[in-house]
Amino acid sequence: MINVFQPTLGEAELAAVGEVFASGWVGRGPRTKAFIDAFGSHIGVAPEHLVSVTSCTEGLFLAMEALGVGPGDEVVLPAVSFVGAANAIAARGATPVFCDVDPRSLNPAVDDVERRTGPRTRAVLVLHYGGSPGGIAEIAAFCRERGVALVEDAACSVASAVGGTACGTFGDIGVWSFDPMKIVVGGDGGMMHVPDPALRAAITTRVNIGMSQESGMASAAAGGRWWEFDVRAFGRRSFGNDVLAAIAQVQLSRLPEFLARRSEIAKRYDHEFADLDGVLCPPPLPDGHRSSHYLYWLQLAPERRDALAARLFELGIYTTFRYLPLHRMPVYGSVSSLPGAESAADRTLCLPLHQGLDDDEVGAVVDGVRSVLGGV
Ligand SMILES: *Cc1c(COP(=O)(O)O)cnc(C)c1O
Repeated sequence: MINVFQPTLGEAELAAVGEVFASGWVGRGPRTKAFIDAFGSHIGVAPEHLVSVTSCTEGLFLAMEALGVGPGDEVVLPAVSFVGAANAIAARGATPVFCDVDPRSLNPAVDDVERRTGPRTRAVLVLHYGGSPGGIAEIAAFCRERGVALVEDAACSVASAVGGTACGTFGDIGVWSFDPMKIVVGGDGGMMHVPDPALRAAITTRVNIGMSQESGMASAAAGGRWWEFDVRAFGRRSFGNDVLAAIAQVQLSRLPEFLARRSEIAKRYDHEFADLDGVLCPPPLPDGHRSSHYLYWLQLAPERRDALAARLFELGIYTTFRYLPLHRMPVYGSVSSLPGAESAADRTLCLPLHQGLDDDEVGAVVDGVRSVLGGV
């Protein structure tokens, strides 16, 4: 099967894990710190503003808690969102308010966000679909003007930017993912960017079971009882560890090579599918926008889309659709009709796109799509 997503893990990652084992310590330690430093320079932020966590989902839950989102509050998010984002809101007793997206880019425009923003809106939570920044700069400006918090689910956006600003750093909190289906893989794990000190303290306390952060060693040196602590929040245990960090740091060093290959494959798809009747490739990126090329998607009539997926599956080519619109899930209690998201969900198919695909595999996808859609 040719997969949609697949990590590229090799000897270097294995050697890094070996070093962690040999160090005798696999928990949060020097490698987590080193990865935070490396990620900070990659994104262009101070490493002190980053918090390593167990997953992006956990980071989104922490974000909603730290912002104090609660019952009676609304958080606006695109209907085309990762399910964990809506859960992070609903789990606080707050209401996820879904906004529409552009049917071609699957990203919300600032107008879509504004239309759903009201007096109860406490925060806006957006992703960058497939790694394309979308309207993030305009949405950030809108949130600042309205005094509403902005959280970026930057799981798709490890290398996305607008101008010199990395996606994930436009808002009050940004969260990246290193799960097995992302570009930089740690096995699991996530990273949060939280520039505000008070907000960051609320998060660092929660990732450590809500315990006070004073060092036991300092307490011992001062002649105190180093085993004593205070509980300041009902936190969980959400910090990353050195095994995940060691793998992810090697992956981060290989990111330029991964991105070059992903962009090459996306360009080939653009070229090969441009002449197919009734089939749309992803819209071109606006000037100054940089994508991580996390997803590549075709859009076509719903019956043709479903037939293409089924036929490619028979040919050993896996495809999928991300992210199923959440306003249609009864559990969130939304009654909205969102035509952009609904049209996108009915017409979009995500093709295999990862740096491990060789030219023959990309050729097999191209030939498969063209033969099914009559472009032979
Ligand atoms: C994968 C993904 C997540 C979840 O990341 P985890 O680290 O697995 O929790 C969140 N948001 C988006 C957009 C994703 O693609």
